[in-house]
Amino acid sequence: MRTALITGVTGQDGAYLSHFLLGKGYRVIGMVRRSASSDVIGERLRWLGILDRVELVDGNLTDLASLIRLVAEYQPDEVYNLAAQSFVATSWQQSLVTGQVTGIGAVNMLEALRIANPKARFYQASSSEMFGKIQEPRQSERTPFYPRSPYAAAKLYAHWMTVNYRESFGLHASSGILFNHESPLRGIEFVTRRITDGVARIKLGLADHLPLGNLAAMRDWGHARDYVQAMWLMLQQESPGDYVIATGRTRSVREFCELAFAHAGLRADDHIRIDPARFRTAEVDVLCGNAAKAEQTFGWRPTATLEELAAEMVDADLVRHRVKHGSWSDRP
Ligand code: NDP
Ligand code: GDP
Repeated sequence: MRTALITGVTGQDGAYLSHFLLGKGYRVIGMVRRSASSDVIGERLRWLGILDRVELVDGNLTDLASLIRLVAEYQPDEVYNLAAQSFVATSWQQSLVTGQVTGIGAVNMLEALRIANPKARFYQASSSEMFGKIQEPRQSERTPFYPRSPYAAAKLYAHWMTVNYRESFGLHASSGILFNHESPLRGIEFVTRRITDGVARIKLGLADHLPLGNLAAMRDWGHARDYVQAMWLMLQQESPGDYVIATGRTRSVREFCELAFAHAGLRADDHIRIDPARFRTAEVDVLCGNAAKAEQTFGWRPTATLEELAAEMVDADLVRHRVKHGSWSDRP
């Protein structure tokens, strides 16, 4: 039985990756940071029905000793570093924490592996935000980076350190440059989930409008369930590498709103309010990925369409609000 250690196991990708690896027969060790809310911290794993099958262990990405201890004790075959301060908007308010967790945290894990388990295969959760002010209309592994936020700068540092540890110490370390990926388990602060949660509340009469920022921003959105498979595939290759994972289609925030509202039988224009406070300090206007290398190397392709993704997210948020507010009269 192979063992995987996942940091960020309580997040969106941690939950889907755990589910996928358990299905492949892995022993899954999930690192969680100490929290006063430990009763709710496993909610995403519970949603997927796997909370009791993931072994949750204490650790923190900013505490090198805790990482060394975990790696030495469990001797994982594969380590997936998904933990991060992952929200771009917060990274301007907490740029130092973002640097410590999202940037240096990844190097802490690389060091822990170098010291305690250099044979383990390592996955770093890099981001399309590193392309920022885009230098090419479709971004691939060869496109120059231009980060536009403290989050993106921290991810870029972690990305190059992953490359550097591979080249300097021969670690099997890969970096997945993943474009935005969403699901019913997406954090509520990200725009797609904000929209589908807002649609559900408006549909159920719990709200009448939804404040949003820049509707013109364009993203290449995929489904998290598809994207975690790419993480695993990267670590199954004989040689480590860097791979863009994307759908190759870009759509605006406005288009996503229209899909989500229409799925609930509503008109987006009747309910959206523009809130200038929600505009970014510096914006990433458009992202569109070219995942040809991943397709050619290990046959990865996305399966979910944006229409299916929006529908699944709206339906899940309708269910959540009905459970919370006790009304089951209007099932999706
Ligand atoms: P989430 O925000 O849902 O999850 C982040 C995870 O990191 C949580 O489990 C959180 O724990 C954990 N974490 C934060 N700080 C620490 C710390 N100091 N020590 C240990 N754990 C910590 O992110 P996603 O699942 O959406 O994304 C996974 C990774 O992929 C992230 O690194 C993200 O930046 C990156 N990424 C995501 C993309 C996306 O579209 N989703 C696109 C490209 C990259 P807690 O629950 O305690 O807060
Ligand atoms: P990001 O690509 O990692 O920053 O993912 P987000 O989902 O947080 O944001 C995607 C885009 O949606 C950005 O260009 C935001 O400016 C835009 N956006 C517009 N309104 C909102 C909002 O209310 N919340 C968030 N999070 N983003 C918004």
